[in-house]
Amino acid sequence: MGRHVIIVGAGIAGLAAARTLLEQGSTCEIIEGSNRVGGRVASDLVEGSIVDRGFQIYLSAYPEGKRFLDLRALDLKAFPPGALVWNGARAATVAHPTREPLAALAGVLLGVVPPGDALRMLPFARRALAGPADGPGPAGQTALARLREAGLSSRTIDGFFRAFFGGVFFDRSLSTDAGRLDFLLRMFAEGFACVPAKGMGEIARQMASNVSSAGIRLGVRVDRVEARSVTLESGERIAGDAVLLATGAHDLARLVPALPEIAWCGTFAAWFETPDPQLLPRWLVLNGSGRGAFNHGAAMSSIAPSYAPVGRGLFVANTTFLPRDADLSSDVAADMLLTLRAILGREATEGWKLVAAQRIRHAIPRQWPVDVADASRLRADLLSQVLPAGVSVAGDHLEDASINGAMRSGRRAAEAILALR
Ligand SMILES: Cc1cc2nc3c(=O)[nH]c(=O)nc-3n(C[C@H](O)[C@H](O)[C@H](O)COP(=O)(O)OP(=O)(O)OC[C@H]3O[C@@H](n4cnc5c(N)ncnc54)[C@H](O)[C@@H]3O)c2cc1C
Repeated sequence: MGRHVIIVGAGIAGLAAARTLLEQGSTCEIIEGSNRVGGRVASDLVEGSIVDRGFQIYLSAYPEGKRFLDLRALDLKAFPPGALVWNGARAATVAHPTREPLAALAGVLLGVVPPGDALRMLPFARRALAGPADGPGPAGQTALARLREAGLSSRTIDGFFRAFFGGVFFDRSLSTDAGRLDFLLRMFAEGFACVPAKGMGEIARQMASNVSSAGIRLGVRVDRVEARSVTLESGERIAGDAVLLATGAHDLARLVPALPEIAWCGTFAAWFETPDPQLLPRWLVLNGSGRGAFNHGAAMSSIAPSYAPVGRGLFVANTTFLPRDADLSSDVAADMLLTLRAILGREATEGWKLVAAQRIRHAIPRQWPVDVADASRLRADLLSQVLPAGVSVAGDHLEDASINGAMRSGRRAAEAILALR
């Protein structure tokens, strides 16, 4: 039986839910508080550069992405499988051993990864590849504990994993659940890290165009939620057979005060326009020294030249923490540029101009083992106890904090609504 569902939030979870409902013969309408679709996946054009909402990448192996996206139409541009790692004194590559063997060998020869660790990575990677294929399961131990259990040396953990996986999870302490690490390794092994040529926002725009029959109301905020209905800030009340709250956890806690606010990881991203794109590296750049605000960054123009104005380069630099309110964005950006000058050299970093600085407090939900356990408890019990009748929830906080996790949660929430009698 077809249903009419009110979806609150046109982020990736809300859009995936809408597509699932429409495919099954139901109808829906989407209410979005901001003036565009995509939520945390968005791009702006700033002085001719494409500036995403923080440094984000799409992993071509994401299983939900294969379901919801036309990857060919996105014109994906892939990062080379490896990174340039700085140890405070020199930089060397760490790379995929079969796809970039020379770069991988260089990393071992230059001592970024000791030969013993290079060998120990194999069983470690094999274990990750044996994990669930559709999304990470809870491991109940931290990524750090898993890396130590695998026998990896402090040099490799501190000099590479803290910067690499710390950069993905905005958590250099590596307290993130090891299941996230396994799944990510699997995704990197089975595909490529990429960006759409026109920016990450293209992912959301494509998903929205596939649900155009749903009707998306932009710039309209939901103020209250009642049984099978919502009240907008304007006072208008909209009712359906069901309501799906796909607002992200922070706004959810405001709409449903009985729900606890979750812990978040924040970040700061600085986007630099550069005068000579040829001088920029093609590798992801990692700061394994642990010193300075800069943790990771990439020359977006080396991957997708369309990110920068013609003849110019674009580099995005990131922290793994949220600078305090008092820290001026330009100071943090200047600190990051100093480290990048040491890594890439004076000539390559001459004349860089800061075009955008983003302080993102609610970037991704924290994913420590305790948070992962709380998310399953939320899914299993708490939501059904505190939500009004006919109201359910989707979002990355219920799965893993990624585009794949947001899609999965949207699809699963829609399927659960469709399964109701
Ligand atoms: C800096 C950064 C880097 C990231 N890097 C990656 C990466 O490299 N790879 C990856 O896979 N993932 C990455 N992520 C995570 C990914 O972007 C998120 O997991 C995903 O986009 C979450 O989608 P969502 O639909 O659950 O929530 P959101 O994107 O937060 O969507 C919620 C939507 O609901 C709307 N809304 C909220 N309240 C109301 C209301 N009251 N009324 C109406 N509308 C409302 C909001 O405006 C928003 O559009 C990153 C995120 C950030 C911020």
